[in-house]
Amino acid sequence: MARDPRHDILFEPVRIGPKTLRNRFYQVPHCTGFGVEKPWSQARHRAVKAQGGWAAVCTEYCTISAESDETPYVAARMWDDHDLRMLAVTAEQAHELGALAGIELSHTGAHGENSESRLPAAAPSQIAGDFAVGLVPRAMTRRDIRRVQDDWVAAARRSRTAGFDIVYVYGAHTYLPGQFLSPHYNRRTDEYGGSLANRARFWLETLEMVREEVGDDCAVACRVAVDRRGALGVDLDEGLEFVSLADHLVDLWDVTVGSIGEWSLDSGPSRFYREGWQLESTARVREATRKPIVGVARMTDPDLMASVIRSGVWDLIGAARPSIADPYLPEKIRQGRVDEIRECIGCNVCISKADSRRHIGCTQNPTAGEEHRRGWHPEHVPPLAEPLHALVVGAGPSGLECAITLARRGARVDLVDRGAMVGGSMGWITRLPGMGEWGRLVAYRAVQLKRLPGIELTTGRELDADEIRGWGADVVVLATGSSWAGDGLNGFTREPIAGADDALPHVLTPEQVLLEGKRPPGRRAVVYDGDGYFAAAGLAELLAGEGHEVELVTGYDTVAPYAAETLEDVLTRGRLHEAGVAMRPATTLAAIRPGRVDAENEFGEPFTIAADAVVLVTQRVSRDRLYHELEGTLARVHRIGDCVAPRILAEVVFDGHRLAREIDQPDPDVALPYLRERPMQDPPPAPAQPPPTLALAERAQPRPRRVELLEGAAGEVAARIDELVRGRGEVVVAAGRGAGDDLEPYRRLAARYGGRFAVSRPQVEAARATRADLVGASSQVVAPDVYLAFGISGAIPHLVGMAESATVVAVNTDRSARIFDYADYGALVDAEQVARRMCDGPPLG
Ligand code: SF4
Repeated sequence: MARDPRHDILFEPVRIGPKTLRNRFYQVPHCTGFGVEKPWSQARHRAVKAQGGWAAVCTEYCTISAESDETPYVAARMWDDHDLRMLAVTAEQAHELGALAGIELSHTGAHGENSESRLPAAAPSQIAGDFAVGLVPRAMTRRDIRRVQDDWVAAARRSRTAGFDIVYVYGAHTYLPGQFLSPHYNRRTDEYGGSLANRARFWLETLEMVREEVGDDCAVACRVAVDRRGALGVDLDEGLEFVSLADHLVDLWDVTVGSIGEWSLDSGPSRFYREGWQLESTARVREATRKPIVGVARMTDPDLMASVIRSGVWDLIGAARPSIADPYLPEKIRQGRVDEIRECIGCNVCISKADSRRHIGCTQNPTAGEEHRRGWHPEHVPPLAEPLHALVVGAGPSGLECAITLARRGARVDLVDRGAMVGGSMGWITRLPGMGEWGRLVAYRAVQLKRLPGIELTTGRELDADEIRGWGADVVVLATGSSWAGDGLNGFTREPIAGADDALPHVLTPEQVLLEGKRPPGRRAVVYDGDGYFAAAGLAELLAGEGHEVELVTGYDTVAPYAAETLEDVLTRGRLHEAGVAMRPATTLAAIRPGRVDAENEFGEPFTIAADAVVLVTQRVSRDRLYHELEGTLARVHRIGDCVAPRILAEVVFDGHRLAREIDQPDPDVALPYLRERPMQDPPPAPAQPPPTLALAERAQPRPRRVELLEGAAGEVAARIDELVRGRGEVVVAAGRGAGDDLEPYRRLAARYGGRFAVSRPQVEAARATRADLVGASSQVVAPDVYLAFGISGAIPHLVGMAESATVVAVNTDRSARIFDYADYGALVDAEQVARRMCDGPPLG
């Protein structure tokens, strides 16, 4: 197919400093979770994009020193020559496929937890970061500034040696140079703070030093958020002024909006931001520079891309997410196959996967992140060695992906769905407010269904087990999906909810609301969320928009906790708030009754919420009946997707893809092992001399004694001890765990002899005595003339404490107690009885 001439402009080469890009498609830096720990995954992920036509592929942010280690997140690193070797593979593979390689050198500044290196975060001023909890950085001295700049130069030098063509001085997302630029983070009063020229100084100096270092070997790119659109960073007028100030030092401007705290502005999820929205700010950068500009806008539409280039505001079409969803996006446009573009749906699951789960994945593209470890390619699948006739039951996301992949491998596929249309769960998902763009998941596959020979689609037909058995397929794949529990089964109590029955008019499931039009019978509705993602929030918003008084109740500590990983949590809550939805986290439902629900707060305290209806978004349950009916009656029957276990879309698409790739393995139900990267490390340097063996200091030992056991009952023992004590100088009466709960007799006994009362540690821990009463090696209550140990077993510090006592008397019913090995006299009687007899009974002796 011929390329649309309107898109020709996208394939013009562009010069950036000393380098030339072969076209205008530029994969901007984005996280993968690979860093330098998975160098082959890193390299293959970028190489597939280079193969798909991107003119440049960049690494994720790449820290320059241990002071910015990024842990618990995974960044690339360019700290030493080992990192250089790990990343050189990426540059090399990009070059082999005709792309330039970029590296985004970075320093996290105030946001760096540095959990690995344990070094304090360094920032322009001691202003808390807005990413990690409770992180307060140290303010950088001038010496620190010079050191960081030197680190940047060293990292740039290594990057050049590694073969990178584009070296970044990254300060967008309010990373360190952006923090210097921002009056929010920068409160300095020296030449690095105050006026814009001063706040820009750190960044300008660093650019200049890096430029000097790399010379004409590399293009220097600067990634800057030109418009904070929130509390942090700089406003647009200052952003543009900075571009003017630094323009002579920069070969490529990579422009964004927002900050790390408001990252969702830049990587806007489609539920909240339309494609191209950042252009409101970033299109203005042209006013400040004639140098090449690249921006991002989640663009997948080549007409929009061409019009942006034609307008002159940008020179390059930047992409992170669209390049993940379709690494072959440029090539498909070049070949005029735009209907085959696997368009990003804007779900941000890639961000969740890369940042929170440490290995990138994608909802649209099941091969993302699997390029190296599973050897998967987005556009190529190995053909089947033998002919195969497959019946796939269910044309939801997993069944569609499986059927298409099997067909691509050469199988003859019958795809049968009970619904009138393909898409399965996407039918209700895309009816939620703002979720229309997610329909691209089906749209891409619907095109493939038409395009691929060998797939026969039948809709509106529900097959039973006998029909499947009689179908005559070599292999049957069940992708029958899942349904929302209609009885309130949930992950908080692991039980259904009393009174929950979706046959009742006041109990509803998401499918009933979204597909069947069922609505709450009254005004007040509770949406109960055990799912923690988009469904409950979307339903609450939908019902509120229809005039219902909605309360979203969830057992989670916050509304939509998973959405925090996709940058949608704050946006979700904000939209619910705007819609007038009340939110009640940390609350579980105990029962649903007409007109109300019984709930419990996080402390188990019951209360009721007035409600005319409850929408149960508690959990989904696999529709696996058919599978169990067929299991064991067919030679080859498999299940995929929600039918196995309800999961996010990315996982069920992956599941369908994997089974299709491995269908000709001996047991396709068991996934083939994947390559695990365990990169070889440089051996640690040998120590100059072996470390000395450290010996612990000598410590005092208790003095063993030969015990004489006193015979008789409590009264006789009491009289005998009284004889031993009277007239013998300082006395300590010590009570241990075996002395009973009431310590009063012992206190009075100590008073009777004019001595001190003391306890052992368990008594203090049980709050029966204070720490001041503690006896032992470290206490004041040591070495009296007579030591009366009641109910004491004999812990070592305690025994050391009384080692110097002239006479030790132990009373304990347990003969095995260690105290008897260190006592002069002992009695095997109840300690409390003896003590009471000694202080409360008739005179002794
Ligand atoms: Fe786009 Fe979602 Fe894939 Fe990310 S995971 S690239 S947002 S489709």
